[in-house]
Parts: sequence; structure tokens; C-alpha cells
Amino acid sequence: MSNKKVLIGIAWTYANSDIHLGHISAYMPGDVLARYHRAVGDDVLMVSGTDCHGTPTTERAIREHKTPQEIVNRYHEQYVEVFKKMGMSYDCYTMTATPYHAEKVQEMILKLKDNGFIYPKTEPASFCPKCNKFVYDREVEVICPKCGAVSKGDQCGNCDYVFQTQDLLKGKCRICGSQTEIRDNTNLYFALSKFEKPLFKHFENSKQYWRKNTVNETEKFLNEGLHDRAVTRDLNWGIKVPLQGYDDKRIYVWIEAVWGYVTATQKYCDEHNLDWRDWWFKNDNNENLIYMCHGKDNIVFHTIIFPALLMATKEPFLMPEHCVSSEFLNINGEKISKSKGNGWPMLEMLEKFDADSLRYFCIANGPEKRDSNFTFADYHALHNGEIVNKFGNFVNRTLNFKGLEGVLPNGTMNIEVEQKIKETYEKCGNEVLNNNFKDALASVMNLVDIGNKYYDEQEPWKLFKEDKAKFNDVIYTCVQIIANLSNLFDPFMPFASKKLRDYLKLNEVKWEYITVGSGEYGTIQPLFTRLTDKDVL
Ligand SMILES: [Zn+2]
Ligand SMILES: [Zn+2]
Repeated sequence: MSNKKVLIGIAWTYANSDIHLGHISAYMPGDVLARYHRAVGDDVLMVSGTDCHGTPTTERAIREHKTPQEIVNRYHEQYVEVFKKMGMSYDCYTMTATPYHAEKVQEMILKLKDNGFIYPKTEPASFCPKCNKFVYDREVEVICPKCGAVSKGDQCGNCDYVFQTQDLLKGKCRICGSQTEIRDNTNLYFALSKFEKPLFKHFENSKQYWRKNTVNETEKFLNEGLHDRAVTRDLNWGIKVPLQGYDDKRIYVWIEAVWGYVTATQKYCDEHNLDWRDWWFKNDNNENLIYMCHGKDNIVFHTIIFPALLMATKEPFLMPEHCVSSEFLNINGEKISKSKGNGWPMLEMLEKFDADSLRYFCIANGPEKRDSNFTFADYHALHNGEIVNKFGNFVNRTLNFKGLEGVLPNGTMNIEVEQKIKETYEKCGNEVLNNNFKDALASVMNLVDIGNKYYDEQEPWKLFKEDKAKFNDVIYTCVQIIANLSNLFDPFMPFASKKLRDYLKLNEVKWEYITVGSGEYGTIQPLFTRLTDKDVL
């Protein structure tokens, strides 16, 4: 029997600004899931990439007198470096600005058109006579009909209202400042409205796995009625439309970026002689899982739009039922925003702080059910108080016990502790499967507490002189706790876990009770460094 296939799609990062802890906090559940599922023996593919074709990217390119490709490459390189340093275990991290992705997206577009779900539609649109082109929504300046603010024409920067075509009638071209006029423009549309019934069904099937925010947002969107969506737009940066008459248009980013989950899997499978359908298509065992991990601003793309595209192919796609939508991580009580400049770039944070410890913060303090908050005071308290004082100290005082000199003794395992370890695998695993990552991590930290308590009660520093046999049992038991912590912490703190495995000569992460033998292991460097008051950005 083949293993269960688990596909984990993490939201695609927009290539127009530095990546910050807010992004990471939304992506982290995906990496925890991937590492957990690999440890239990599932065939995991974790995919994502850089979202290259959005208009914020072209706007930045214009501002910086660069090409969009140069902007995209710069951010893509940064994201790759951040994810590597943060221990994000992507099997495939690609970008949408590749010929491979373009080709696969064009195939999908043609298939949807053949199936009758993509059709041309002519309607009035903003045209700038001076620039001699149709201007897209963000190139138009409008007055918000809801709140009166002056805003770019995609979404009100003040009240988040999404503008409709009629709102753009009295616009101004943001490139040259002239009044725009309305002319007939032909674009391709996706018949999202035809999927109302199957999407309601998908909602009913999936909502048991979703967080409240995902259920509420999706239900609201469905109840408002589904509207067909433009597939093409007047741009010169993006994927070309594989049909005649659309040379001056490109495929809209919303449709090709979500399709990236499929194309990234296809790319990985092509390169590794695997069949991508094994992860994406329904099969007989009915056990495979597809997870989508993203922030709350991205919910309907993953619960409505992407499923509709999958349905529109008329191929036997398994629906992405497991959505993990995070709330926002704020910084010092404020929403992270470019204008406030409070979203410290991850690369700067990683110069000062430990990646495991930042991961720990993102999970322990994660925006699971409500927005959460990052402050240096909280971060320091967590790092020094939990990670260094509890976990780091337990490892250090066991493995570097003065007198052992790096030779771990043989002994008898304490049965109660063994039982606690086994329970932790079960408890932590269940919490991960229920998307309660905070509780999952807390259950592993609880095992550290049990280890420290056991150590304190047994007083090995006394036994060392008074009762060598009992001393050996205590240290042996603590070593087994540490060996199992190297498995249990792997989804959360992979770097420290790897250090422990290297030290204990363990080759792989397993989600089951393990033991390590006695013998010479040498000394181990402290896993973490204590932070001081000077360690702020
Ligand atoms: Zn407004
Ligand atoms: Zn103009």
C-alpha cells in the first residue's frame, strides 16, 4: 500500500516588499504540518513561490527605474534566503515569472475555455487618451463612493471598499494626470457564477475543518452571490493570453497565482519523476489531504476561487478542504504597514535573533483565532524564560552533566516518564491535525517541564556521589526524553532538533517513541543564546 499523499500549499508572497514576521506567522502552520506529516511517514509536498505579476510590482519598477523582472528577482532571492534561514521545508519554492508556470497556466486557460467557462465580454473601461491605452484599476484615481477618500481604483485605501466598474467612470489617470474616458474593451471572463451550487457543497463539506474566520468569510462571500471575474487585463507584465486578439493584455494575477499550487507541484514532479496527479486527483483510498495555509486577507481565493477553477477543469481534482487561515500578527499593538515602517524585514531580524525562537514565537503567540501581537519585551520573555531556561537548560544539564564527560550511561527507563513521552506524541499529533498549533507546541513544552521536574526531584547531582546505579537511571531517562524531544520539537524548532539528532546520532525524525543507547557522545554546545536588553532592532 502506498503512503498517504499530503499536499501543503503556502500562500504566495507578493514580490513588492520585504518579507516580515507577519508573513511568517501565516506561513508557519504549513511548515509545522509538513514536518509532522513527514515524521508520521506521509508523502508530503510543500509548495509555494513568489507571486510576480501583481501591479504593485510594476509600480515599484516604475518608481525605481527598473524592469519588473529585476524587482521580482531581487525579492525572490530575498524570500528564498529568508525561508531557508527560517527552516521552511519547501519541496518546491518557485516563482510565477517562469516559462514553465506560464505554459501550464495557458493550458489551464484553454481547457477552461474549451469547457465553456471562459468567455469574451465587451464592456466600458477606463481609457487614457493621452497615454493611448486602457488603464487598469490601480492606475486610476477615484473618489470612494462609500467614504469619500481619494484612492487607487482597485480598493479603497481608507475603508477597503472594492470598487466596481461604475465607480471608475469619473477617474483620473495616475500616470499622466488626465481625465480618463470610458471606451469599450473586450476581456476574457471566468464564469464563477456557474459554480454557486458546487461551491456551496464544497463549503458544507469543508467547513468542519476550517477556523471561524474562514467559515464566516466564505459564507458571506457565497451569500452575496458569485460574479464572473475578468481573466485578462490591459497590462504588459504578466502571462500572455493564449488566444488571438489579446496581444496587449495579460492574464489577471488572481487566476494564475492560485494556479501556482498546481504548477509548482507539476514542476517538482516533472523534475523528480513523480506523477503530480497522485497529490491532486481523487483516488480510491480517499485518505489524501490538501492543506492551504495563508493569512485572513486571502481566504476566499482559497475557499472559493481556487476550488472553482479546479472544478472548471472537469478533471477529478481533490478539493483543498483543509484551509488554515491565520489572523494578523501586529507589531507593538499596531497593524504592520509599510507607511508605519514597523514591519522589520526578516533578514534584519535573523541577524539578531534565533530562527527557532522566532518560529516558536510565531506559533506560541500565533494569530490562530484572533490577531496577536509582537513586542520585544514579550519575545525576550519567551526566549529567555521558556526556550533558554526550560528547554535549553534541560538539555544542557543532562548532556553536559559535570562528571559524565560526554559518556552517556546505560540505565533503566522510568516507566511513568516513558508513558508521558508516548502521550505527548499522541496529544501533539492530534493538536496539529486539528490546526491547534499553539496547543501542540504547549504539549511538547509540557514534556520539557515534566523532564525538569523529574530532574529536580531525583537530584542527580547528589546521586552521582551517593548512588551511581540510580544516577545512571535518572540520566538515562533524561537522555531518552531529549531523544524524543528531537522528534517532537522538529515541526516547531527544526534547527535545535537537528542539533540534538546530530549529537545523539539519530538520522531521521520519527513520530514515535524512540530510545538511544549509552556510550560516548562528547559535549554539546548550548542550543540557544540568552538575549540581553541590548538585543532589539
Ligand atoms: Zn472608502
Ligand atoms: Zn494617462
